[in-house]
Amino acid sequence: MTRRLSLFGATGSVGQSTLDLVRRDGEAWAVGVLTANSDVAELAKLAKEFRPDVAVIADETLHGALKGALAGTGIETAAGAEALVAVARQPTDLVMAAIVGTAGLAPTMAALEAGHDVALANKEALVSAGELMTAAARATRATILPVDSEHNAIFQCLAGGRIDQVRRIILTASGGPFRTMRADDMARVTPAQAVAHPNWSMGAKISVDSATMMNKGLELIEAHHLFPVGLDRIEILVHPQSVIHSLVEYIDCSTLAQLGSPDMRIPISSALAWPQRMATPCTPLDLASIARLDFEAPDEVRFPATALCRAAIAEGGARPAQLNAANEVAVAAFLAGRISFPAIVDTVRRVIDTDAPAVPASLQDIFSVDAASRAAAQHFVDQLEHA
Ligand code: NAD
Ligand code: MG
Repeated sequence: MTRRLSLFGATGSVGQSTLDLVRRDGEAWAVGVLTANSDVAELAKLAKEFRPDVAVIADETLHGALKGALAGTGIETAAGAEALVAVARQPTDLVMAAIVGTAGLAPTMAALEAGHDVALANKEALVSAGELMTAAARATRATILPVDSEHNAIFQCLAGGRIDQVRRIILTASGGPFRTMRADDMARVTPAQAVAHPNWSMGAKISVDSATMMNKGLELIEAHHLFPVGLDRIEILVHPQSVIHSLVEYIDCSTLAQLGSPDMRIPISSALAWPQRMATPCTPLDLASIARLDFEAPDEVRFPATALCRAAIAEGGARPAQLNAANEVAVAAFLAGRISFPAIVDTVRRVIDTDAPAVPASLQDIFSVDAASRAAAQHFVDQLEHA
């Protein structure tokens, strides 16, 4: 039976991996929606191949260009943030949320409110608005299928027992490209070094987050929302080979793990096919040639981001939204060569070192916190740049 897919963030790393799987299993899927931020040429190319009902470009100034590129194809076009929300409500069997950053929050919420199952890659949305998103999913009985490899692993391991019989969730982390670097040397790392992840090929923002370990902190918050076992039952373990994608320990001391090559098409396929499985072109694990797997405790002195995230989610309310927004600004400033690598986490720390913002009751409240936090982070970035 053909299933309908709405894909948000089609031109990104997760979006392209999703389309690679859809392309190989074309009979199974009808793509209804494709979206991108500003890459009109790539969006138009994908639209001509996958023939969605509608292609949406987030940057409104590019609507004319998209219309021109798709003239005569019969594919509808739309542009802007409101259009993203409108198409998220459109009937579908599955929404793939693969936009990066809180830009993905409004369409993802709209999809959940419409009762659509969501394959969620866009972790920043859940970090900022986890309570609102999980409440929306409960209200409409929509399922959130985690795409993030660790959370997808945990989701799979939780099929082996009951969540109230979980003793620990162990979130694995590669440690990123600077796992063994001395703290002093981190002041000199370049954006090119930071985006060169040892195991995974990913978008620029998440690659920098992996290098600061902010990614693992955001994932801790993500896990807390997706798998409510209690924050003190979620631990982080550094595992440089990225073969074990996470583990779940039950009260009987059985520990279940999910393993696989570091290829995002594996967790993406798991979310696409759930509750079934689908064949993928991925490389099966050859454990004899891998020969060994290593583990170490995280170093929160050289990598303070995970502790900041744990404190932010323990405090709750708007604090995680504030942290996430500050991090998005700081990462962009680092990638633009404006601030140093250690200044990313310093900027986040300074922004969240304020009186607690009011507890958000609506998406609008989240957007207010997000905007204020971005402005504060921008202020610190400007200061650092001119220091
Ligand atoms: P990417 O930068 O490669 O792609 C991002 C996508 O979002 C693009 O299609 C872009 O056009 C779109 N986009 C960017 N800004 C936008 C805006 N303002 N409005 C609308 N659309 C916008 O990112 P990615 O690596 O594919 O990551 C996507 C999400 O998945 C992130 O939240 C990331 O943390 C998460 N994730 C990615 C990976 C991975 O391997 N790449 C793994 C786990 C989780
Ligand atoms: Mg991950």
